[in-house]
Amino acid sequence: MTADTPLDETSLPSDGLDDFRNEVTTFLDTTLPTAMEGVVGHLARAQTWRAALFDAGLGALDYPTDFGGRDLGPDALAAFGEITRGRVPREDHVFGIGVGMAMPTIRDFGSDELKERFLRPGLRGEEIWCQMYSEPGSGSDLASLATKAELDGDEWVVTGQKVWTSGAQHSDFAILLARTDSNLPKHRGITMFILPMKQEGVTVRPLVQMTGEAEFNEVFMDEARIPKDYVVGEINGGWRTAVALLAHERVQTGVASMGGDDKQRSKAGRVPIPVAQLIELAEARGRSKDPVVRQELARLYSGEKIVSFLKERSGLSPSIGKLWRTIQGRAAADLAASLAFPASPAWEEDLSVPRNLDEDYFAYHILNCRGMSLGGGTDEIQRNTLGERALGLPREPGPDKDTPYNELLRN
Ligand SMILES: Cc1cc2nc3c(=O)[nH]c(=O)nc-3n(C[C@H](O)[C@H](O)[C@H](O)COP(=O)(O)OP(=O)(O)OC[C@H]3O[C@@H](n4cnc5c(N)ncnc54)[C@H](O)[C@@H]3O)c2cc1C
Repeated sequence: MTADTPLDETSLPSDGLDDFRNEVTTFLDTTLPTAMEGVVGHLARAQTWRAALFDAGLGALDYPTDFGGRDLGPDALAAFGEITRGRVPREDHVFGIGVGMAMPTIRDFGSDELKERFLRPGLRGEEIWCQMYSEPGSGSDLASLATKAELDGDEWVVTGQKVWTSGAQHSDFAILLARTDSNLPKHRGITMFILPMKQEGVTVRPLVQMTGEAEFNEVFMDEARIPKDYVVGEINGGWRTAVALLAHERVQTGVASMGGDDKQRSKAGRVPIPVAQLIELAEARGRSKDPVVRQELARLYSGEKIVSFLKERSGLSPSIGKLWRTIQGRAAADLAASLAFPASPAWEEDLSVPRNLDEDYFAYHILNCRGMSLGGGTDEIQRNTLGERALGLPREPGPDKDTPYNELLRN
């Protein structure tokens, strides 16, 4: 959307879109640099940024005013996205799950008490969240999950194991899916909970990836406790809320990652390497006249252009953005590898010294892009989703759809 796009006046701030744009620009130019001055450390910088954004009235644009929000509509959100593109500190990814997925799910499905308790601190970045969906035997087939929750007086008691839990090591709370009735078919006996992470019954073990980082973890729950009312949505109705949260995740990992700035060095590796940077790399390595390299650059450039046109369309399935990101991300990383690091799989980052962004940048992307194809749903699952929901093809056969969970054959 551009400044010339016709706007729906009803969703604008009362002082108009131009004033809102100025407000955002002033925040980025003046308020934010002052707030961040001298703040060191990844988490500290992430939390300082979020608090500054929230306190400036820009951290909860489409939330009710009761929770520090502005009740703004899509025009203001689009304007905000456009002005902040390339200027959001990279540490913001700490809040991808809390602000991007858990908060909108609690806003839309949580009780008044849960909204009152969790929205403000979550949106202000005071509390960090993770997503505890996947299990060793339940990834794409999420509804087969085995973690169990049973009510005991005023508390739910949870036992089971999760895996791939991004950010669990520094999270205060998790959005947890657990089975609450094994007599029901697998999709119908699941409940969504808010799990306090800092308690005796929860053990978090980091898993080191080939980038050298431990972004995700295994989480073991051994009679972990959850207050009775920390249920998001209906008991045994968690599949509906789980799917709603996944839709926010697809927007996060899909449409949002289509918005990278041409020159931005996205160290987090969340967006494909921009073609402008690959051209610079090809020139620096004396390969810019190589016809094979040029052909690949042209293909990647076309991908960037196509996605920039797609972004202008309303009602686009987030799965398209997610698929584009992973396909473009892998192709861009492969080209970078062939230009810069023929031995890239042998690269190992020295985490004992501060990162050298320029040296590590391409190597990090090359190693990280494979995982990006899995998180948020694999490419095959995105294609299934597009086939069934966007193209209206018959649903994948599910012979176990109506069978009680406790009668299913499981590994
Ligand atoms: C970087 C990263 C971060 C993650 N963060 C989180 C997190 O924070 N929280 C969380 O809960 N999970 C997280 N995950 C887990 C992620 O959601 C799962 O890895 C993903 O859903 C795939 O599940 P799986 O790994 O068990 O693979 P499987 O489901 O076992 O799939 C194996 C292969 O089979 C294919 N396949 C499976 N079913 C079908 C089908 N029906 N049709 C066609 N092909 C199929 C898949 O595409 C894949 O290629 C993360 C993963 C990664 C890599």
